[in-house]
Amino acid sequence: MSAAPGRPQASSDRSPSGEGASPVSAAPGRPQASSHRSPQGEGIPVDAAPGRPPASADRSPPGGSASVSEPLIRLRGITKVYGQGATALQALKGVNLDIEAGDFVAIMGPSGSGKSTAMNTLGGLDTPTTGEYLFQGLHVETLTRDQRARLRRRYLGFVFQGFNLLARTSAQENVELPLLYRGEAAATRHAMAAKALESVGLKGWEHHTPAELSGGQQQRVAIARAIVTEPAVLLADEPTGNLDTQRSREIMDLLWGLNVNHGITVLMVTHELDMAAYAKRIVRFVDGVVASDERNAHPAGLQSAPASPIPGAGGDAQSPPLQPQEH
Ligand code: ADP
Repeated sequence: MSAAPGRPQASSDRSPSGEGASPVSAAPGRPQASSHRSPQGEGIPVDAAPGRPPASADRSPPGGSASVSEPLIRLRGITKVYGQGATALQALKGVNLDIEAGDFVAIMGPSGSGKSTAMNTLGGLDTPTTGEYLFQGLHVETLTRDQRARLRRRYLGFVFQGFNLLARTSAQENVELPLLYRGEAAATRHAMAAKALESVGLKGWEHHTPAELSGGQQQRVAIARAIVTEPAVLLADEPTGNLDTQRSREIMDLLWGLNVNHGITVLMVTHELDMAAYAKRIVRFVDGVVASDERNAHPAGLQSAPASPIPGAGGDAQSPPLQPQEH
């Protein structure tokens, strides 16, 4: 579901972190806009605090008072219409979906079925035309663009098919970028990025540029960049679409480890059944709605991924990397 060429982008905010050209000037403050009140009457901390929140503590609900039974994510009657009048196109036609914290969901479906649109909505990159999107009680559909950017920065990580790394920038600097947006000091950025790179098996590759890395390694850098902020949710858009089978499996093992050992909820679009087999749940879109939603009793990751935590990804810092380094 990579972005189709030629589509209008105006209605979407395609920057995962939501920053403009000057990331530093977009450093998180505490704007009054963040005082949006949830239905429960709690303030919503979608403004990222300048300090780095502790990994586990930061998983607390933005809505503040979500009940135990409330899912991490709830979509209710989501519709999305692109364009107007005779050329209007309804990409989503009433999507209902609950996602529990800790789930690993593969989103499948034919081209044009609405997967990208749903992912853009889930990632706060785009807003629905109608319907409700609750992120632990927070009504995301009511947020301003800036508030959604802060939600993304604080709770979400993104991985794309094409890796989306800055070309002439080292792995280390690519991974540091979200931390720069967050206003972290240089020393903290260096340490956290190094740790994240080690966690994806790229210790020793910090100073290589994307051109000096294999596709699998580039995707590892992208994953390190996505997890360096210790997100609650990782949204992966065909993360293995550009990789061969072996590299694809390694990336899936990595995602599986992040999910199982670190509790990161993974939402992944894929058209490959082999990759979807890693997920705990497979949701299929057809013609703008969820056509099927099944549990996977035997996720492939159970067979292939070691159970050890990944150092630097928010867990036990003493454990070895999940995967050996690629050469
Ligand atoms: P999928 O990811 O399953 O291929 P998409 O969500 O990309 O499906 O697209 C669903 C439908 O919405 C398609 O008909 C597509 O052409 C249309 N669409 C997607 N994005 C846009 C856009 N920005 N403007 C106009 N139409 C769009």
